[in-house]
Amino acid sequence: MQLICAIDIDPEQYVAESFHKRMLPPARCPHCYRAKTLWALGYYSRNLSRIGLGALLIFVRRFLCRCCRKTVSLLPSFAQPYRFVQNRTIENYLRGNPLSDEVIRHLDLLSQYWRRFRIWLPELERTVGDALERAPPNDHIKAWRLLLAVHGDLASTTQNLVTGFQITPFGRYRCHRPNGPEEKMVRKR
Ligand SMILES: [Zn+2]
Repeated sequence: MQLICAIDIDPEQYVAESFHKRMLPPARCPHCYRAKTLWALGYYSRNLSRIGLGALLIFVRRFLCRCCRKTVSLLPSFAQPYRFVQNRTIENYLRGNPLSDEVIRHLDLLSQYWRRFRIWLPELERTVGDALERAPPNDHIKAWRLLLAVHGDLASTTQNLVTGFQITPFGRYRCHRPNGPEEKMVRKR
């Protein structure tokens, strides 16, 4: 299982400070709900866009429950589950300000994300209900802004949607995929 972990540093800082090593386990195992049973089990790595050229390789902390033997990983909230472009850039793109360099660099992916949001919106509306009712029909950008306004920002929105409903703003949340193609296990140092 992957949980989203609120974190108030940006991805560049997370990498520069090897912050993954300081991520603490949840107090309770999300599978069996026992307390203090999670032990560190290394990391997996994934790519994330950066402000500037190239990409960041971020390490995501994993833990193993010594009771139920299931694992949990903690994705920092600046990243969107299973999407390359970081939340800050997605927000900038949809804020509609003059396009910044990182938005222009990832315009293809960002427009894909936007298409996904538009397709997914009816399901989102059914799930979160009241929050989006004030959006006029077919005004997707208004719906996006209302959604983020309810939760604060894209990081909190995603965290709340995943925790409460097992969805993200862009689709159903594939809770955990232990060794998928974009993930690689690394040994803890
Ligand atoms: Zn457990």
